[in-house]
Amino acid sequence: MILLDRVTKVYNRREAALERVSLHVEPKEFVIIVGASGAGKSTMFKLLTREEKPTSGKIIVGGIDYENLKDRDIPTLRRKIGVVFQDFKLLSNKTVYENVAFALEIAGATNAEIKHTVPKVLEVVGLKDKTNSYPRQLSGGEKQRVAIARAIVRQPKILIADEPTGNLDPKHAWDVIKVLEKINRFGTTVLLTTHNQEIVNYLKRRVVTIRDGKVVSDKAIGNYKG
Ligand code: ADP
Repeated sequence: MILLDRVTKVYNRREAALERVSLHVEPKEFVIIVGASGAGKSTMFKLLTREEKPTSGKIIVGGIDYENLKDRDIPTLRRKIGVVFQDFKLLSNKTVYENVAFALEIAGATNAEIKHTVPKVLEVVGLKDKTNSYPRQLSGGEKQRVAIARAIVRQPKILIADEPTGNLDPKHAWDVIKVLEKINRFGTTVLLTTHNQEIVNYLKRRVVTIRDGKVVSDKAIGNYKG
């Protein structure tokens, strides 16, 4: 479902941010990507969402070969990939419900679809009782779960979670990890980056380690030792 074949990305003629990275992720897998700041994790995600183009190498996601991708195909591609970030990027003047609904509105969903879908997604992330709250009234963990709800509301095949627990205290971090596990159980491929070794050990999932733009290890069980 996700295939990177010897992908290299060089920004501005500096050294490569990614160098001949090959990675194959099956549908419904949960993969943890670890690596120090600057290792190239975000670059890999930006290549997947087509915010950046590779300097060389092949990328195929869900049967779409990026080499043949036209600009008009990019919205279709991005619908397959939900993204959440460390800083939640919520709209502060909208309620929880409206933040999630907005992702559907801009995708052209009907009011009936929105009314049907948003409560279900808020249920998945455990925020039904916060439907009418504004972001400022939420804890960090709750905000992150709103961001996750927004990312999955269009039922992407892949969810990229780029250090989603980085700003959270441990209790709220666990709430977010539990939600990611649930979404994965429902059949979504999850790519997670984290610096938290406890989370890696707990999840016991495949761990891909990136160092200086290269994949330096790829292990099936979460026993990575920094
Ligand atoms: P990570 O997400 O693992 O912290 P990044 O992918 O953000 O790593 O960065 C990898 C390398 O690429 C770093 O050396 C970073 O400075 C560089 N880099 C990232 N984005 C850009 C950009 N837009 N322009 C130039 N260099 C960049």
